[in-house]
This record gives sequence, structure tokens and C-alpha cells, in this order.
Amino acid sequence: MLDVTFAAPKPKTIAGAKGDWELVIGLEVHAQVASNAKLFSGASTKFGAEPNSNVAFVDAAMPGMLPTINEFCVEQAVRTGLGLKADINLFSQFDRKNYFYPDLPQGYQISQLYHPIVGEGEVLVEMGNGTARLVRVERIHLEQDAGKSVHDMDPNMSFVDLNRTGVALMEIVSRPDIRGPEEAAAYVVKLRQILRYLGTCDGNMQNGNMRADVNVSVCKPGDYEKFRETDDFGVLGTRCEIKNMNSMRFIQAAIEYESRRQIAILEDGGSIVQETRLYDPDKNETRSMRSKEEAHDYRYFPCPDLLPLTIKQDWVDGIQAGLPELPDAKKARFVADYGMTEYDADVLTAELANAHFFEEVAQGRDGKQAANWVINELFGRLKKEDHTISDSPVSASQLGGVIDLIAKGDISGKIAKDVFEILYTEGGDPAQIVESRGMKQVTDMGAIEAAVDKIIADNPAQVDKARANPKLAGWFVGQVMKATGGKANPKAVNELVAKKLAS
Ligand code: ADP
Ligand code: MG
Repeated sequence: MLDVTFAAPKPKTIAGAKGDWELVIGLEVHAQVASNAKLFSGASTKFGAEPNSNVAFVDAAMPGMLPTINEFCVEQAVRTGLGLKADINLFSQFDRKNYFYPDLPQGYQISQLYHPIVGEGEVLVEMGNGTARLVRVERIHLEQDAGKSVHDMDPNMSFVDLNRTGVALMEIVSRPDIRGPEEAAAYVVKLRQILRYLGTCDGNMQNGNMRADVNVSVCKPGDYEKFRETDDFGVLGTRCEIKNMNSMRFIQAAIEYESRRQIAILEDGGSIVQETRLYDPDKNETRSMRSKEEAHDYRYFPCPDLLPLTIKQDWVDGIQAGLPELPDAKKARFVADYGMTEYDADVLTAELANAHFFEEVAQGRDGKQAANWVINELFGRLKKEDHTISDSPVSASQLGGVIDLIAKGDISGKIAKDVFEILYTEGGDPAQIVESRGMKQVTDMGAIEAAVDKIIADNPAQVDKARANPKLAGWFVGQVMKATGGKANPKAVNELVAKKLAS
């Protein structure tokens, strides 16, 4: 398997006044299930709709309304579990998690505490230089999202928008296997990539489509290894949970701050209070929000409105059979089949759309050359204007056409860049552009020879120098290329110049 080819990265170590400390991090990622309808109602999940326009009676907790499970959301959770190589629980159950929020009309959230739909899985997080962390996933459960309170529209009133109420979330809980801020961000990036490949979550963090609660504790070197041997959480430090993080940058900054805060308290002889904290990006600090509530505070109990969820192994097998190729496998295939570097394969597989585009360009062509054109020319150009592959002005078949013209010897690599620029700004057919604008490489030996002869005749002093020092022949090649507008076949020019200077 892939994992054994990687070495474990070093955990982040922070030198305190009284010795070294290590970080231990576990993430609870809330990923919105990609689905047109909510978990227990047919209301739309469309983002950015008019407030309170996507609300079914059951979402608003009207008396007598009953939830009906959305089979597709269940399928998406199963697909996600399979994509994370996790155990799928054929029996799972929904529980009520009771608490009051103005944006939670039911007065409880329907979640899965005791019997989640997905059990243990894993995420391989590559950290560069042949290192990777295999982060264990503890469970994934399905639950409803809450609505949104709006406090900044009126000085005297608060509003509530129930559009998000009842939208399906998958809570993906990791084991505390993440050992530093960069690993935490890389874990979220990798998880998001897998979910996007699976089509089970859009992973759009700005829209709140994916957010993470970050649990941080610090310990002494060796303690985490003890935890791995015994699975005894008691050997780890007390954790604090930083709620609702929706940017990779803030996740890292919050972990940095929080771990140093804990170390300072511990070195001062204090102890960590388990609590929920909020990160303030303006001040770059975490602040206490509330003391940590325990499961029993919520008075969880099986939701009497819903039967236990039982699914069939056949159905799971069908979903398994339909899984797409996932990032690790695609990356390995790109390296093996196209002979590209790991780095290029990373770039091309980061987004599924990029990988598809590349494979269309590479189809029947030189893979390395195709990768080069897609990454260096196209991505470079798109980046300049903040474009992505989905709004690329140059299509895969146009880019492929450019590569074909190089392969046929119609244009040099240098002219190809000019053709690419024309395609990017004006569009068109590569072969026609080359034809109609006279960009074709001159392979006519007579024409090239005439150009070489002219340069030699015009520059007798240079000729003497070049005869004494053959390294200076390059100057003539350059002049001929210039005179032919870069269209002369470089190989032919080199040979001819060498021949003429020698005679
Ligand atoms: P809760 O709902 O109380 O937050 P969960 O079991 O849902 O509890 O999630 C707990 C999270 O905290 C998991 O991601 C787990 O890996 C992580 N965690 C548990 N103990 C520690 C610890 N000592 N340090 C860091 N993270 C921890
Ligand atoms: Mg939790």
C-alpha cells in the first residue's frame, strides 16, 4: 500500500521555558452533503437564496410535522465513508441532541451519537519530501445544520434565516493524530479534495460549506507514542476546541496561538480547562466561549420520529463499485503513465477539472509535453487573471492542436507560445492561425541557406572571429533566426552555420 512508502513527518515541537512540548490535534470537520434537498425535507439547499425561502414546514418545526429521510444524503455519506476506506455501518440511528438556539426551531438537532453511519477510516496526508501522516478517522455521522441568526442588520432587532436549517451535514471526526498546524491544514485540504472527487461535498469554505472544529492539546515528547500504544487519552494533555474555522490560514494561526497559550499556563504551574474557544483573526488570538459541554448535557436520546436506519450490503457494494478514481490513485497513475514528476502530478490532480483537462490534452500525445503546456503555459496564464480551468479561454483541443503542430515540425516551441497567446486572447484554430499568419516554420532548406549566406556575407569580421573560436557560431544562428522571424528550423540553421563556417 501507499502508506508504507512514506516516512512519518516530525511532529511540531515548541521549546518552552522548561523544555520541549509537542502538539496533538484532532479535527471535527462539518461537510455539507452535496444534495439538492435537505436531510429530512424536500426544501432546496441552494446557496444565496432569499432568506427563509427554502424552508419546509418540518424545517420550521411546525407542530405535527415529521421528518422523512432523504435517501440520497444517506448514499452520499456512505460514498464518503467508502472514499475514506471506512467501515460502513449497516445499522445506524438518529438521536436528538437537545439545546436551545434561536435559529434551531425544533429545540434539538437530529444527529447520530451512539450509532453513526460510518465507522473507522483514514486520510493519507502527504507533507512533502516523501513524508506523510496517516490520520485515522474515528467516525462520520449525519446531522442537520442549524439556521442563521443575523445581528448586524438592525440596531434593535435580530433576525433569523432558516434556509440552512435542516441541511444535511456529515461530521467527520478524526482521531487526535495530527501533529502540527501545517498538518492540520493539509489534512483539511486532502479531505476536501477527496470529497470533491467523490462529489459528496462542494468544499467551498467561504460559503460555510465546510468548516472545522479544531481540538488542540500539548504534551511532552513520548506521550503521544504512549497514547498510540494504549489508546489511553489520559496520557495526553487536556484539549481545547476552537469552533467553526473556515480558512486554512486561520486554522494554522489558531493552533499556533492556542498551543503557546496552553504551554504558558502549564509551565506556570496552572492546568488547562477543557473548553470551547473562538478564534479572532483580527487579534490573532483564541478566546473562551463556553466551558465544554459533555454528551450528557444534551440529553441525547433516540429520535422517536425516525426508525433506525438499516441499509443493505448490496446497496453499499453498488456504491463502492461506482466510486470514481480518487486523488492518490490518480496521482500514482499520472506519475507512472505519463512519466511526470510527483510535483506535476500533484498540481494536475489537485482539482478534478484540472486532471480531466490534462488527460484530454495528453490523449494520443506526449504526456510530459502535455503536462508542461498545461501547467506552465495555461495555468500560468490563467493565474495571471484569476481564472480557473472552467473559464479557460483555451480549450483542451485547442491546446492539443498547438502541441500537434510542434510535433509535426510546423512550428517551433517558441512560435508555439505566440500561437498560444493568440488562442488565449482571440481564439481560433491553431493550424489555421499558423497558416494564415505565416507562422509556419521554414523547413525549406534553400530559404534557410540563403539567409545564412547573407548573414555570413554581411559580417566578415564576425566570420573571422567565429572561425578562430567555434563557440561564437551561436551568434550567426541567432541572426538567422531573427532574420526569419524565428521561423527557421533551429536544427537546420545550426547545422548549416557550422558547415558554412567550416568551409
Ligand atoms: P466532542 O463532540 O465532545 O467535541 P468528539 O468525540 O465529537 O467530541 O470529538 C472530539 C475530537 O477531539 C476528536 O477529533 C478527537 O480526536 C479530538 N481529541 C480528543 N482528545 C484530544 C486531545 N487530548 N488533544 C487533541 N485532540 C483531542
Ligand atoms: Mg463534536
